[in-house]
Amino acid sequence: MAKRDYYEILGVSKSASDDEIKKAYRKLSKKYHPDINKEADADDKFKEIAEAYEVLSDANKRAAYDQYGHASTDPNFGAGGGYGGFGGGGAGFGGFEDIFDSFFGGGGGRSRYNPNAPRQGEDLQYSLNLEFEEAVFGKVTTIKYNRSQECHTCHGDGAKPGTSPVTCSKCSGTGSINVERNTPLGRMQTRTVCDVCGGTGQEIKEKCPTCGGAGHVKDVHKVKVTVPAGVEDGDQMRLNGQGEAGKNGGPYGDLYVIFRVKPSTQFQRRGPEIYFETPIHFVQAALGDEIEVPTVHGKVKLKIPAGTQTGTTFRIKGKGAPRLRGTGQGDQHVKVNVVTPKNLNEKQADLLREFAKVSDVSINEQADGSFFNKVKDVFKKD
Ligand SMILES: [Zn+2]
Ligand SMILES: [Zn+2]
Repeated sequence: MAKRDYYEILGVSKSASDDEIKKAYRKLSKKYHPDINKEADADDKFKEIAEAYEVLSDANKRAAYDQYGHASTDPNFGAGGGYGGFGGGGAGFGGFEDIFDSFFGGGGGRSRYNPNAPRQGEDLQYSLNLEFEEAVFGKVTTIKYNRSQECHTCHGDGAKPGTSPVTCSKCSGTGSINVERNTPLGRMQTRTVCDVCGGTGQEIKEKCPTCGGAGHVKDVHKVKVTVPAGVEDGDQMRLNGQGEAGKNGGPYGDLYVIFRVKPSTQFQRRGPEIYFETPIHFVQAALGDEIEVPTVHGKVKLKIPAGTQTGTTFRIKGKGAPRLRGTGQGDQHVKVNVVTPKNLNEKQADLLREFAKVSDVSINEQADGSFFNKVKDVFKKD
């Protein structure tokens, strides 16, 4: 039996306003009300009108009907999960509200809802703290967390060992039942979720003693995690099947491990490149030297050429972090900061005066500020 179009039933156009729909409904419901109209088909007509109005007077239901037609009012239509949050704004028929409240989840209802279909479990997230070097070189570790796991006693079906779930006697396995209700406008038949099986269509006569019929239990779960060399703070890794247990024999969800990397006190890192800063003496900068520099791979010798200016950056090839995507390693960048000594003794000061003389640098120590004067003052007191 093909259902008539709701707009056709109310005799309005598809673009009818809420007001037009309300007026059409009032007129027709009066005309076909079973108390007034004694024609044989008045009752059916009245129900048909009420049903059409129920859908078209609700913006959400109307939108769903416009998109999916009568399928949108099928009790088995709707998204999996997320019950409630629809409905409202109806004309107070009661019965129809239940259908929509139960089956139109927040998800927008694109897929057909089958309570017995296997469903994958929820995904989980785990924050894994790493030291700076652990992120650079990677590591293997074992993490522990709580998750729902398939019950070992019943292997997920929720029935006591030796028994199995049977088809629900109340709904014959469909998961929904017809309910008759008295409304101010007459008796209405609606479909609603089966109260015996909760919509699964399966009845567990003797529940599993371990999980109480749920089919899964919360348990501590251990997973070995291989942190790849070169990860950075905020990177994440997916571990298939390490999330929550699925429903109706569906697979486990996934686990997302998010890496939280502790900053280093001496190094900065951007991808495979590592940055390091070191002070050098102005004599080292002027004459040149070879210094030892720490890297994540151990100490490395670095040549400072004569005449190095402060702020110069040197690159030590291949002493950075491994490239997470790709091969090889980045470099370490060493920035040198030339330091001028703060306290010169008399001999050092004399040598520098000598240096100034041969360098044709004229120094007025009186005007230069207090530095040399202070040094002199110290000696005078002695
Ligand atoms: Zn069990
Ligand atoms: Zn049932």
